[in-house]
Amino acid sequence: MYKAKAYSAAGANSPLALDTISRRDATASDVQIEILFCGICHSDLHTVRDEWNSVMPTVYPCVPGHEIVGRVASVGSAVTKFKPGDLVGVGCLVDSDHTCPSCRADVEQFCPDATFTYNSPDKHGTAPVTYGGYSESIVVDERFVLRVPANLDLAGVAPLLCAGITTYSPIRRWGDIAGKKVGVVGLGGLGHMGVKFARAFGAHVVVFTTSPGKREDALRLGAHEVIISTNAGEMQQHAGSFDFILDTIAAEHDINAYLNMLGRDGNITLVGAPEKPLEVSAFALLFGRRNGAFSGRPQLQ
Ligand SMILES: [Zn+2]
Ligand SMILES: [Zn+2]
Repeated sequence: MYKAKAYSAAGANSPLALDTISRRDATASDVQIEILFCGICHSDLHTVRDEWNSVMPTVYPCVPGHEIVGRVASVGSAVTKFKPGDLVGVGCLVDSDHTCPSCRADVEQFCPDATFTYNSPDKHGTAPVTYGGYSESIVVDERFVLRVPANLDLAGVAPLLCAGITTYSPIRRWGDIAGKKVGVVGLGGLGHMGVKFARAFGAHVVVFTTSPGKREDALRLGAHEVIISTNAGEMQQHAGSFDFILDTIAAEHDINAYLNMLGRDGNITLVGAPEKPLEVSAFALLFGRRNGAFSGRPQLQ
């Protein structure tokens, strides 16, 4: 084991503070990474504040961070994909059981025994739980390390590791959105990624927001149109016209208002995680054979 500097929270009401944590020495299949950048995900805040206590209580000290970009410092003897000096990324997962049906299908994010980057039981016993990227260094199995092209802005790459894949994945799973009318509900961390991807993939992109102050940002990020969702007239004008809607709202909201925006066979995919269940009107689904992927997230984060 070796020591690494990290920012940790000592409790749900404690601010993050400089700390020293233990990291395991790289095993044969591990990559040791010098961390250069780490994004701040809303999940980090939820976890630090123990707001997901009913699902996964926070173990303190808590070192969050799962949008990690860094440079390989050293590799274990069996590592084949990376060498010292390589630019790499680490997202929300650092391990899985490698044996369940999901792992065998190469979708380890659905593994029931997945090890999350932070606040998951540490199989190696280095600490009670895994510690994330608010640190100068991390050690990860090479199977959960991603290559980062050297020509990219590394600070800009970091948010792709969580917010990026969370929005990229459902858009790609839905299909080819080129020429389609695509809505993005909410313009926060996930929403702005959704807008950029949808625009890059050739969609006609419309942002739904309750904040008129976000109109300029939405257009600057690539949206073609902005609908102020509290304006019933604007909503009515677009009713029944969308092919696909990515809903990024993490708070309670009326999902039926957005289902009614969809045209025939339209799909809405949720990537936000509201605390309380959403009420879905059967009629909003029945008319137009609309459907919803009410768990669009590629991983719990
Ligand atoms: Zn995240
Ligand atoms: Zn598995």
